Amino acid sequence: MSRNHPSKRALRRWAAGEKPDLTHHVETCEACLDDLEELTRFDPRMRRALGAITHPESGFLARLETRLETRRRNAEAWSAAIELLSLSWRTFDALTERDEQGD
Ligand SMILES: [Zn+2]
Repeated sequence: MSRNHPSKRALRRWAAGEKPDLTHHVETCEACLDDLEELTRFDPRMRRALGAITHPESGFLARLETRLETRRRNAEAWSAAIELLSLSWRTFDALTERDEQGD
């Protein structure tokens, strides 16, 4: 089996249904799954289109969705942590301001 990976541009065209000959490679290739994860992260329409191109029995779409879900959870965990940090900084700011004004 060929391990020459299609370019991101080719993957985009494949996702648009223009290169059906790439389907088998993409369905079985982790590296291409990585690229498609990037390409489809903010594009639910592209994900739906992939559902029409890939074979359900390959489990490709399920693997992609699992990855995107994991990524989304991580992003949420990060933004919660950042929110907590900025909250404590705001509290800190408020306290120091009060100290300065209270004198
Ligand atoms: Zn590949």
